[in-house]
Amino acid sequence: MAKIIDGKAISAEVKVKVAKEVAALKGQGISVGLAVVIVGDASASRVYVNNKKKACEAVGIYSEEYALPASTSQQELLELVDRLNHDGKIHGILVQSPLPKGLDEAALVETIAPQKDVDAFHAYNVGKIMQGKYSFLPCTPAGVMELLHSAGVEVCGKRCVVIGRSDIVGKPMAMLLLHQNGTVTICHSRTQNLKEICREADILVSAVGKAAFVTGDMIKPGAAVIDVGMNRNQEGKLCGDVVFAEAEKVAGYITPVPGGVGPMTIAMLMKNTVTAAKLQNGILP
Ligand code: NAP
Repeated sequence: MAKIIDGKAISAEVKVKVAKEVAALKGQGISVGLAVVIVGDASASRVYVNNKKKACEAVGIYSEEYALPASTSQQELLELVDRLNHDGKIHGILVQSPLPKGLDEAALVETIAPQKDVDAFHAYNVGKIMQGKYSFLPCTPAGVMELLHSAGVEVCGKRCVVIGRSDIVGKPMAMLLLHQNGTVTICHSRTQNLKEICREADILVSAVGKAAFVTGDMIKPGAAVIDVGMNRNQEGKLCGDVVFAEAEKVAGYITPVPGGVGPMTIAMLMKNTVTAAKLQNGILP
């Protein structure tokens, strides 16, 4: 049976460290602040934003929420981001994805000051990540790396397979594994022989967004299986991409959903916000 990698417990440890740093910064007269912008009323987004707010309270980060109607224009959003870019109380700016149709999310992200881009989606930060010279890491892939590290899963020299090539998960995930000297394959919807490729993986990361996508026969015995997917099953329950009951019999390590990658994403957001505050106060170069 696979060892469960407990994202809830590991994220709690990260948040304890973050809270200490937040308190230390407060002692230096710096109150760390995060602004979260949510547009429209998608219920999943509301849940994510509430969780982020709760995490801020838990670690002592000051937070502001801008809940805007779906009718908000691109220009109004640009003006808000511009104001937050110049707001000394705010060190991190996060625009909750997805934005309602008609708004250009990519264009908006490019207007966030790179030092306040705590999601690390701005082209400047993406480029830094490619070069391995980053200040911020994107929260979900960074959370996955932390989970692997905490579980004692060595990446160096291992065959790593990432299913999914999105800008926010798959691509940066592959890059972080590569930086740790993994031998990385990225799979996507046009990949042929997906099952065979996955079966070669010592570390398999699934970021597809389809329930029951990764079955037990796609997993190499003893592999570390990281399930990034957040889906609803037929009963409406939150689930990942991996058929957990099958996978846990084959894998060496596995993350559950819920309680795996999800809580880590939020913990890494808190960590990035502290990094942002340090950068903006000259504590980090
Ligand atoms: P996305 O942008 O929709 O990307 C999905 C990826 O899966 C695409 O690259 C797509 O390939 C690939 N894919 C789809 N069908 C496939 C198939 N049959 N075979 C192989 N690859 C296939 O999604 P995302 O934003 O990366 O998110 C992925 C999942 O992670 C979602 O469930 C999301 O909710 C979850 N998520 C979780 C967290 C967390 O904190 N736990 C954070 C972010 C995202 P193509 O590129 O060829 O279309």
